[in-house]
Amino acid sequence: MGRLIAISNRTAADASARAGGLAVAVWESLKSTGGMWVGWSGNISDEVPAEPEVFTDEGVEFVVTDLTEQEHDGYYLQYANRVIWPIFHYRVDLAHFANPDFSAYAAVNARISSLVAPRLKDGDSVWVHDYHFLLMGDYLRQSGWKGPIGFFLHIPFPSPEVFRTLPEHDTIARAMSQFSVLGFQSKTDRSNFVRYLVENCDATDEGDGWISVFGRRIRANAYPIGIEADSFAKAAMSEVANTAASRIGRFLGGRNLVLGVDRMDYSKGLPQRFEAVGKLFDHFPQTRGKVSFTQIAPPSRSKVEEYRDLRTQLDGLAGRINGDYGDLDWIPIRYLARSYDRRELAGLYRIARACLVTPLRDGMNLVAKEFVMAQDPDDPGVLILSEFAGAAEQLSDTLIVNPHDTYRVAEVLYKALTMPLEERQERWEKLRQTVVDQDISWWREKFLRDLGVEAG
Ligand code: UDP
Repeated sequence: MGRLIAISNRTAADASARAGGLAVAVWESLKSTGGMWVGWSGNISDEVPAEPEVFTDEGVEFVVTDLTEQEHDGYYLQYANRVIWPIFHYRVDLAHFANPDFSAYAAVNARISSLVAPRLKDGDSVWVHDYHFLLMGDYLRQSGWKGPIGFFLHIPFPSPEVFRTLPEHDTIARAMSQFSVLGFQSKTDRSNFVRYLVENCDATDEGDGWISVFGRRIRANAYPIGIEADSFAKAAMSEVANTAASRIGRFLGGRNLVLGVDRMDYSKGLPQRFEAVGKLFDHFPQTRGKVSFTQIAPPSRSKVEEYRDLRTQLDGLAGRINGDYGDLDWIPIRYLARSYDRRELAGLYRIARACLVTPLRDGMNLVAKEFVMAQDPDDPGVLILSEFAGAAEQLSDTLIVNPHDTYRVAEVLYKALTMPLEERQERWEKLRQTVVDQDISWWREKFLRDLGVEAG
């Protein structure tokens, strides 16, 4: 049996990083094949290191390299996070185009590929992760590697019209066509990519996932990523979860909790969500004093201007809504700009009457799936989900909204808060079944099967 070689920006070289669902899934496959994990060490050094750090843990070989300040800035902070991220989330207005950053991005892809290529053996399969390494297939092919290379994109793939705003779209699409199997979060992302190849690269969609393009036959499919469903349901019953639930319970004083949990990112639709909550209190005055909205929003990429602006905007909105509607004994809306442990979150999900998952664009959105798994079967809360989250394709039995339509979101939130128990249970049972059936192992096995890897 051949080895699986994973390439991702950050590896789980540190055992503490093997906690999340994805890291566990990749780690398990690498362990079962005696594989290798290649990526950035997380450190910055003054010069390009002559050799990567190589070490083995539980039979998995890690090959990680420091980046120079210049590499880290051009490849990671600029091109990946300020060009690809906004464009792939349909925010062309927030992209900072600069050609030198693309050169840095390409150079880091080439350098990581040069660490992988000499270590590959016949029978190995490579699995590249995410938007940091869109060019990796091309560099590995240039080095002579003919074996399977899978690629999974964790973020959305935009419509061709939006993708074409990326000055390097042609180079990137050609490079992506060097992968053997391309995985997307949703059918929409997959069809956006295929439509681009058909319109720009004379590709043919042969059906059943197969595409012929640039004289090659490749596969492109949707593999919606899942969570560790059973383990999350257990986390919601843990001591830590109970403590978090009773702490927020003291704050609520018998009011209904509406919850939001998102990295503080402009793709998450937080200002629109705050507006919608304001409209709930405005148009449904019977909810005043009876409902509290809490948004957990750990800051991310806070050195970047767009993210600082978002924070300022949210401070203003929350202040205004509390000023307009709050009372001596009631805070209508509050947000906590810090992160919580997954078990604490599980406890909060469990006692929330409703969860607002209303991104403007999201590859998948795991919070939606976690909320489902944390519910009490006897009294489940209601998930309100954006049609623009990848998760909406699987969780269509929940209340689906357009996050831009804030009045409608307020109406749907009111519907959720007043939904009869029987309907809540019926909807929840269907959602639960989907999240359990299509969990993280299902996702991994489905992808690796198409790549031709037998990994336990
Ligand atoms: N999360 C967490 N602590 C927090 C907020 C979020 O552990 O305070 C976790 C959350 O449980 C989920 C992940 O971060 O597993 C967010 O994943 P999602 O797909 O929703 O969004 P992303 O941040 O990847 O865009």
